[in-house]
Amino acid sequence: MTARILVVDDVPANVKLLEARLLAEYFDVLTAYDGYTALDLCARTQVDVILLDIMMPGMDGFDVCERLKSNPRTAHIPIVMVTALDQPSDRVRGLRAGADDFLTKPVNDFQLLARVRSLVRLKTISDELRLHDEAARRIGMETLSGRADTGFEEAAQVLLVDSRASSQERIVKILKPIAEVKTLSDAQAALFEAAEANYDLVVVNAALQDYDPLRLCSQLRSVERTRFIPVLMMAEAGEEQVIARALDLGVNDYIMRPVEPNELLARSMTQIRRKRYHDRLRSTVEHTIEMAVTDSLTGLSNRRYLDRHLEILLQRARTRKRPLSVCLIDIDRFKQVNDLHGHDVGDEVLREFAARIRSAVRGADLACRYGGEEFVVVMPDTQAEVAGKVAERLREIIEQDPFLLSSGKRLPMTASIGIATVTDENSLSQEQLLRQADQALYQAKKEGRNRVVSAAA
Ligand code: GH3
Ligand code: MG
Ligand code: MG
Repeated sequence: MTARILVVDDVPANVKLLEARLLAEYFDVLTAYDGYTALDLCARTQVDVILLDIMMPGMDGFDVCERLKSNPRTAHIPIVMVTALDQPSDRVRGLRAGADDFLTKPVNDFQLLARVRSLVRLKTISDELRLHDEAARRIGMETLSGRADTGFEEAAQVLLVDSRASSQERIVKILKPIAEVKTLSDAQAALFEAAEANYDLVVVNAALQDYDPLRLCSQLRSVERTRFIPVLMMAEAGEEQVIARALDLGVNDYIMRPVEPNELLARSMTQIRRKRYHDRLRSTVEHTIEMAVTDSLTGLSNRRYLDRHLEILLQRARTRKRPLSVCLIDIDRFKQVNDLHGHDVGDEVLREFAARIRSAVRGADLACRYGGEEFVVVMPDTQAEVAGKVAERLREIIEQDPFLLSSGKRLPMTASIGIATVTDENSLSQEQLLRQADQALYQAKKEGRNRVVSAAA
């Protein structure tokens, strides 16, 4: 995993030391000796993680951090504050400024690398999501950018895994202002609970009775339902090795005991905020993908989706030596509907038409709007004879009841259908299959419409 790390410190010796350690791990390293240069570098080049000194002349680390985090173009870059003072008040101030973590000088090698690796990993995920978001914006879809920060309108749901009653009580009390906390002392039960419910954060006490906390962390990371829930570990001084392993396993953050209330609050809020941001990004991406393959008028799959998916279904039919049929359905004299009743009524008819088709096909069949007033139904595992029966049923479903319009009027509609089937014998290509269906449809129109014609086998 290679990434570009920016080291910011006004003391050249400190910069050189961190630079050497990071270079030894093959990271790409940029350096700056003051805040202004750091801001400038972040504006001009891509930076993946920033190691930021707090005490610098001119603009201090808190200032630099605040500016980077309030600029949408740099807000997503993880920042590790590097400080000589291991003061809880400094940590809280840094976290308020948006810092993602702390390292104390002299910097412990193990922690430095674990920290940087874990943040690079996190950034890789959010970069990918932001790319999708960008793509969505380019094609005019709704995106997250420009919307207000989620903040804490809703109480967060936190799962605390801790086997000591006294410590449980204390943590619940600290988190009370921002979260509803469920407490479990059993790690197995906690894993189950995390997968079942919808948590924003899991807090794990490293001192679990009868269970390896690292095992719990790795399980939380490998189960699909819990993979994206942030995990915050509580540990004692002297447990640095456990922390480093935990971070390697994908734990998002840690806090030392005895827990400083403000630090726990600040760290929890950072994780919860990030989780909510990622959740929203992810659902926007899913929504975008769905929109890209859905016809907005009818809600059926669109032609783009058909073109992709039919190829997969054909491939599968070939390897299994199974038949596959397609119906190409075209509304009869649809242009007249538009001409006599207007385009809006035409749209209404298309929606009702699509709804009738959807109600009549099996779950395994794929119904798409192929374009204009043409629809395609793909039927895997279906030979020509059966497809003919299905098509006849579709034709009847359109003809039997006139279409009821919102105006109260009723319009009788009919459709013509062409069928083609790929079999192990004819092994048609996708193009040939659709062309045969189109020719059959043409034949149905020519013979007087409102009928089904099968392509000659
Ligand atoms: P045929 O029986 O031969 O299929 O006649 P037809 O009138 O159905 O076929 P034609 O291809 O001549 O006309 C299709 C019409 O469908 C033309 C076009 O304006 C209309 N159309 C295509 N897409 C839409 C749409 O999204 N909404 C509406 N209202 N009309 C559409
Ligand atoms: Mg047509
Ligand atoms: Mg038509």
